[in-house]
Amino acid sequence: MSSVVESKGVVFWREYFPKLEYFKPKTIDEALDLLDKYGRDARIKAGATCLTRALRARKIKPIPKYLIDITSIKELKKIEYIDGNELIIGAAVTHEEIINNELIKKKFTALWEASANIGDIETRYRGTIGGNIANSSAQADLPPALMVFNAYVTLMSKEGSRKVPLTKFFLGHKKNVMKPNELLVSVHVPEPPEGAKSSYLKFKRSIEDRALVGIAALVAYPRDPSKRIIRLAYTAISKTPFLLSEAEELFKQDKPLSKLIEEAIGIAQSKYGLPVGERGIDLRAPKEYRLHLIRIGTKAILKYLIEGIKVI
Ligand SMILES: Cc1cc2nc3c(=O)[nH]c(=O)nc-3n(C[C@H](O)[C@H](O)[C@H](O)COP(=O)(O)OP(=O)(O)OC[C@H]3O[C@@H](n4cnc5c(N)ncnc54)[C@H](O)[C@@H]3O)c2cc1C
Repeated sequence: MSSVVESKGVVFWREYFPKLEYFKPKTIDEALDLLDKYGRDARIKAGATCLTRALRARKIKPIPKYLIDITSIKELKKIEYIDGNELIIGAAVTHEEIINNELIKKKFTALWEASANIGDIETRYRGTIGGNIANSSAQADLPPALMVFNAYVTLMSKEGSRKVPLTKFFLGHKKNVMKPNELLVSVHVPEPPEGAKSSYLKFKRSIEDRALVGIAALVAYPRDPSKRIIRLAYTAISKTPFLLSEAEELFKQDKPLSKLIEEAIGIAQSKYGLPVGERGIDLRAPKEYRLHLIRIGTKAILKYLIEGIKVI
C-alpha cells in the first residue's frame, strides 16, 4: 500500500511495507527448510540496506509474503583463512567486519579497499558481503574486487550445494543464477598468486555514493612477461560487474607495458553497456565520462601496482 500525504502544502509520497511473516532461523538447515517451503514467496534478509527500499517501493515481484532473516546464523558470520589455500567469508559478514580484518587488508587488499569504499558508515555496519553479491547491482563494489582473485560462491538448497565462480554468477542488473530455494552461504577467495599486489579504485561523486566506475586490479611480476599476471575487473560500466578475461593473456605478451595497457583500456571501453533507464545508474554520468574514467583509472591503478606511484 502507498498513499500521497499533504502537509502544510508539501506533498509526501508515503510507502508502506507489504505485510510479511518474519522468521529468524538459527542454523543454515532451518533457513533452507524455510526456503524450500516458501520458495518464490520468501525473501532472504541480511543487513536489509537494499531490501528495505526494494520492499517499500514494491520493486520485488512477486511481492514476498515471508522474510527469512539470516543474521542470527553463526555459521554465516565466520571469516576463516586456510593458509596457502583460500579465504572463506560467511555470507552474513558485514563490510565493517571485513574492514577490521588485518589479514584481508594485507593479503586481499582489493577486497578490503572495495569494502572500505561502500556507502556510508551505516551501510558498512549493516550491509553484508552476501547481500552485496546477491543484490547483483551493475554498480556493486565488491564483485570486481573479488573477481581479480578468481573468487567463487557456495550456494545451498535442500537439494545440495554448488560452487559458482563470480564471473558466471551475474546475468544482468539485479539478475543472477540463484534459484528461489537457494541461499548464498559463503564467498571463497583463493590464495593470491605469489608476489601479487591488488587494489580497488572507485570514482564517485561524493563520499557515500555508488561507483561511477570501479576498477580492481591484481598484479604479480609486472617486469617479467614469462611470469607476469595482470588481472583487471570493472563495475558500473556494463549490465554486470565483469572480469576483463582477455587481459590476463594480453599481458603475457612480450611487448612494452604501455602498449599493452592501451590495448586493455580499449577492450574495457568496448564492454560499455549500462542498462539504460535504470534510475540512478545511467543518470549518474554519461557514457563519454565513464569511458574517460576507465582510461585514467586503469592507467592510475596499474601505475600504482607496478611502480608504487599513486596519481589518483
Ligand atoms: C545509502 C546506501 C549506500 C550504498 N552504497 C553502496 C556502495 O557504495 N557500494 C555498493 O556496492 N553497494 C552500496 N549499497 C548497496 C547495499 O547496501 C550493499 O550492496 C549491501 O552490501 C547489501 O547487503 P545487505 O546485507 O544489506 O543486503 P540485503 O538488503 O539484506 O539484501 C539484498 C538482496 O540480496 C538478497 N540476499 C541477501 N543475502 C543473501 C544470501 N545470503 N543469500 C541469498 N540472497 C541474499 C536479499 O534477498 C535481497 O534481495 C548502498 C546502499 C545504501 C542504502
